[in-house]
Amino acid sequence: MKRVAIVACAALACSPLHAQQPDAKPATASPPPTETAAATALKAKGRIRLLGAEVPAGTSKRLTWTSGTAMEGFVVPVPVIVLNGKGPGPVLCLTAAVHGDELNGIEVTRRVLNDVDLEELNGAVIGVPIVNIQGFYRGTRYLPDRRDLNRYFPGNPRGSAATRMAHSFFTDVVKHCSALIDLHTGSLNRTNLPQVRADLRVPQVQRMTQALGATVVLHSVGERGSLRRAASEAGIPTVTFEMGEPMRVQPEQVEHGAKAIETLMYSLGMTKQRRYWGDPEPVYYASKWVRVDHGGILFSDVALGERVSEGELLGVVTDPISNQQHRIYAPISGRVLGMALNQVVLPGFAAYRIGTATSKSDQAIQSSDDTGEDAPDDEATQDDDEDAPPRG
Ligand SMILES: [Zn+2]
Repeated sequence: MKRVAIVACAALACSPLHAQQPDAKPATASPPPTETAAATALKAKGRIRLLGAEVPAGTSKRLTWTSGTAMEGFVVPVPVIVLNGKGPGPVLCLTAAVHGDELNGIEVTRRVLNDVDLEELNGAVIGVPIVNIQGFYRGTRYLPDRRDLNRYFPGNPRGSAATRMAHSFFTDVVKHCSALIDLHTGSLNRTNLPQVRADLRVPQVQRMTQALGATVVLHSVGERGSLRRAASEAGIPTVTFEMGEPMRVQPEQVEHGAKAIETLMYSLGMTKQRRYWGDPEPVYYASKWVRVDHGGILFSDVALGERVSEGELLGVVTDPISNQQHRIYAPISGRVLGMALNQVVLPGFAAYRIGTATSKSDQAIQSSDDTGEDAPDDEATQDDDEDAPPRG
């Protein structure tokens, strides 16, 4: 049995990821010429040595990473869990709570790690459930110096505290990954439909999005300094997986995330568990933020994930003093991929993110001029969890 599994994995590692999805529908668009099997295969694991320890094949270890930026007596160790399977395969890394108040990804990581059968695992999984452990303890997105760690990768050993911390994590952990999934949620008082953010111009990244099953995919290059972009630029294909709200653990969102990652692992030949759903094809979206033009209390008429038509009522902003009401209508037809929770808003507040379905080849073309959500001058980035803090 074991021999069969190893042979199968060796073959899988040389094939495009989607070839391993038994129920996958044939791709509608023909792949670009660069999308060869060699271009989409992930780097296979070698000896797993990190953080001063060796993890032999067929074993697991709980290691700790410390950034070294705190005072000696106040060093907060960050758990790094390594599962090294018996068979060959890639090293898949899962990172969560780079923003310390984003809890769904912590539970997704725990669940995926816990579900792995070491005896059957091909390749390895490195899980860091709480990267920003100081933010986690304090219930905040930020580091103790109010910096956003996800703006400082790959870091620098001689820069600010955040830059040094980023450098240490990138060097000690991230560089050991063949591929990485960085788990996030919407920012404060906003929620996101489970969705993957990915640079679809990179063939390996595009294959990852396909292998994550029926998950919404938004193309973006990624903000400079984000873990996703820095890792991808270092040759480690990386996607960001957004789900739900910060400060909460949401069972449905967690279930989607864990299922998607386990589907990916199966597609990579890492596991034998068949965990994918009926229609494994992702849906690719371009998106647009809808902002309110008046201050007041926002009440939404739509729900997350709902499909809306152009001109449809999204919500109402009511001025609590003058009682004036202002309705917000959908400027385009599409799907609500992200939205603000009901709250007090000021004019200009980004309330709804409407996604319009597009083909992945269109996404790739759009990316060449990079005028999407990641354009630095695009204000929309101010309200996107991955891109910039929404306020303060
Ligand atoms: Zn985040």
